[in-house]
Amino acid sequence: EAKTKGRNGFQEYIPGLSIYSPDRMSLESDLRAALRNNEFVLHYQPQICLATNQVVGVEALIRWRHPKHGLLSPVHFIPTAEENGLIVEIGRWVLREACRQCRQWIDAHHATLRVSINISALEFRQADFVEQVRAILNETGIAPSHIELELTESIVMHNVGAVLAILNELKRMGIFLAIDDFGTGFSSLNYLRRFPIDRLKIDQSFVQGIDHIPANESIVRAITSLAHNLSMEVVAEGAESDAELAILMACQCNEAQGYWFAKPMPADDVMPWVAAWEDRKAD
Ligand code: C2E
Ligand code: MG
Ligand code: MG
Ligand code: MG
Repeated sequence: EAKTKGRNGFQEYIPGLSIYSPDRMSLESDLRAALRNNEFVLHYQPQICLATNQVVGVEALIRWRHPKHGLLSPVHFIPTAEENGLIVEIGRWVLREACRQCRQWIDAHHATLRVSINISALEFRQADFVEQVRAILNETGIAPSHIELELTESIVMHNVGAVLAILNELKRMGIFLAIDDFGTGFSSLNYLRRFPIDRLKIDQSFVQGIDHIPANESIVRAITSLAHNLSMEVVAEGAESDAELAILMACQCNEAQGYWFAKPMPADDVMPWVAAWEDRKAD
């Protein structure tokens, strides 16, 4: 067997022995079948406000319940879906499913969680992207302020004039906007200050080991002060230890997500997890 159970509970392939490499055609046809057969599922990872210790949002992260290979991480299929264009259809499914789930949490628990949704460049560049988002919000009865779109630096720093118009339209609707993996791409500060961005998500490569890698702490402090001066908030990704969390707080990060709080979990586990978190806080 060319696979082992990884630390996330995913089936992880031993490099070179993956069933899908180099056979991209069969991955493409299996992805189409996965859409038809409803094999995708969203897991959700809590985002915590460091000042109040409250759960303020969850990030939706796609997984594939593969009929033969078990639960597959997005790193195994999102890059291919981006190359062959299937990401557009998958992205629409993600948006609709995340909104449907958000609606269910509101109805059943009066929960006011913000749901963050990852958007690929190709999805964002569809001429009808804003229309699609609006239609899905209407269809699912979700207020735009419950939703945050996570865009990457490469999306927003490309074709800036057109992008700015789209961001302004999404912002006018009341949707929250974040830049994901901030610090790993090439952001122009000149453009950044003109964009209606609410949050910068600091990439986990800067967060991990921040307690003993001085350069990481310098970078996180610099991003935080830049963000705050531009009236943006900062979310630290990938916090795993007490020591990292302490430094993130000292750096004035607004929110954090990471294994220290919780791994991404199935939708049904989210409300019980939030309740347990609130109980623990009250102790
Ligand atoms: P991302 O958006 O930057 O998501 C954060 C990734 O870091 C997730 O991996 C999450 O499980 C992982 N993570 C969170 N906390 C920790 C931690 O403390 N330690 C470590 N080592 N990892 C942590 P995941 O779920 O495998 O997703 C990987 C990437 O796949 C995402 O990175 C995103 O770029 C992409 N992706 C996931 N879901 C979607 C989706 O619905 N649409 C699109 N277009 N891309 C998606
Ligand atoms: Mg993300
Ligand atoms: Mg990220
Ligand atoms: Mg990432």
